[in-house]
Amino acid sequence: MATGQTFSGERIEELQQIAGEHLFMHAMQTKDWRESGLQIFVKGEGCWVTDIEGNRLFDMTSSLWYKSAGYGHKEIADAAYRQMLEISSPPAWSTAIPTIELSGKIAEHYHDKDARTFFVSGGSEAVETAVKMAKKYQILSGKPRAYKVISRRNSYHGSTAMAVSLGRSAAADPAGPEMVGAVHVANYDAYRPPLGGETKEEIALKCADDFETAIVHQGPETVAAMIAEPVSQMSGIHVPPPAYWQRLREIADKYDVVLIADEVITGFGRLGEWFGMTCFGVAPDITTVAKAITSGYAPLGAVIASKNVADAFMGGEAETFRHIITFGGHPVSAAAALANIAIIERDDLVGNAKRMGERLSERLQPLYEHPIVGDIRGIGLLQTVELVRDRDTKESFPSEAGLADRLPDLLAERGMLSFRVGNIVSMCPPLCVSEDEIDFMVKSVDGAIGAMENELGVR
Ligand code: PLP
Repeated sequence: MATGQTFSGERIEELQQIAGEHLFMHAMQTKDWRESGLQIFVKGEGCWVTDIEGNRLFDMTSSLWYKSAGYGHKEIADAAYRQMLEISSPPAWSTAIPTIELSGKIAEHYHDKDARTFFVSGGSEAVETAVKMAKKYQILSGKPRAYKVISRRNSYHGSTAMAVSLGRSAAADPAGPEMVGAVHVANYDAYRPPLGGETKEEIALKCADDFETAIVHQGPETVAAMIAEPVSQMSGIHVPPPAYWQRLREIADKYDVVLIADEVITGFGRLGEWFGMTCFGVAPDITTVAKAITSGYAPLGAVIASKNVADAFMGGEAETFRHIITFGGHPVSAAAALANIAIIERDDLVGNAKRMGERLSERLQPLYEHPIVGDIRGIGLLQTVELVRDRDTKESFPSEAGLADRLPDLLAERGMLSFRVGNIVSMCPPLCVSEDEIDFMVKSVDGAIGAMENELGVR
C-alpha cells in the first residue's frame, strides 16, 4: 500500500465511531455520512491520494480547488517545521521574516509592483477584510456614505456572515438575514444568458451593464465596492470575454467604486497566469487570495491592496486600518507559502497549467458525442463538462435522475476522486498534472458519462 502504513479493520471502525459521535463535518449531512462512513485519506503524492482502505485515486478537483503544487512536498513541510522551531509566532504588533518575505514575493508576481498585502487565515476572512478595507477606503477618500457592495448571484465568496451574503448561492447557509447593503446583479453565463444577447460579447456587456444599472439605482454615493471572481467555479466556470472585465473596470472608475477580484480559486496559476485577472487585461483595486497560496499545506489568506488603496491608509490614527486577525499571516503558513511558491516557480507550474489546460480542452471536445453533454468550457486547469437532459432546450437533469449520487461512484470506479459532481463535472487537477494524467482524467470522465447514459437509458 502506498502509505507504507496499513490500518486494521478495528482501527478504521474505531475512527468511524469517534467521527460518528463527535465530528461535525462542513456542509455534509451527519445522518448520511454516518450511514455510509466517512472517506478518510491518509496519504497524498503528486495528483494522487490514498484513503485509509488503500484505494488510490486521482484528485480531479485538487481537494477543494487548492492543491496546486500537488501532494507530498517535503520541502514545504521542512520550511514549516523549521519556522515552528525558530519562532512559531511573533509577539503582538510585530511580525516574522517569512511574512515579510511573502508580501514581497506576492508583489513580484502581481500587476502592481507596489501592492501591499494584509494577511488573514483563509478565503472567507480575505473577502470580509477586502470589503471592510474598501468601505474604509471610501470613508477616507470622501465617500463616507458608501456601504453597499454589489456582487453576482450564484457566486461563492465564503461562508462567514458577510461573505455568504455576497455569494448568494445554495452552497452556504445564510441562517438569517443578509448583510445590510448587499446588492446582487446577474452573473455572466453565455450558455443560458440571463439578460439575453447573441454573441459572447453582447451577453457579457449586458451582464456587465447590470452593475451600472444597480449602482445608478442604489445611488452611486452609497456604493463602496463591486466583487466578482475572474471565472466563477460556483456558477459553472463560464469564461467571460475580456470585454466583460474591461467594462466592469470602466463602471467602477466612473462611479468611484472599488473593484475587488476574488481570486481565492484562480490566484497562483489556476488559469495559466499567476493571477486570473491577467487573462482579461484588467487591474483590480483589491484582490483576495487563499487556497493555492500554500497549496493547502497550511491555512492562509491574503488581501492584496493596490498602491492607490493602500496609500489611503497612510496618515494618523483615523487612517489606520483597525482590523485584527490573530493568526493572519502566521509565519508557519507564510514559510509554507514561500516554499510552495518556490515550487510553482521552479517547476513552471503556471506555464504547465496553461499547456495542460489547452490539452484538456482539446481532449474534451470528442465528449460532445455523448447526447447528454450540453457544453464544454473553461480555461487553464479550471474546466467543466455540463450535462443536460435536452441539448436543444438546455434543460438540466432533475435531482431525481440521480446524477449527483451516481457520478461520484462511476468516476471512482475509473480512478477519479471528484467533488460535488452532478449536472456539472468540474475538472481542476493540481497544476503539476502531466500529459498522461490529463488523458487518463478525460478517459475516466468519458467512461463515467457513458456509464451514466446507460443507467439513464439514453443510449
Ligand atoms: N472565495 C471564493 C471564490 C471561494 O471559492 C472560496 C472557497 O471556496 C472562498 C472565497 C472562501 O474561502 P475559505 O473556504 O478559505 O474561507
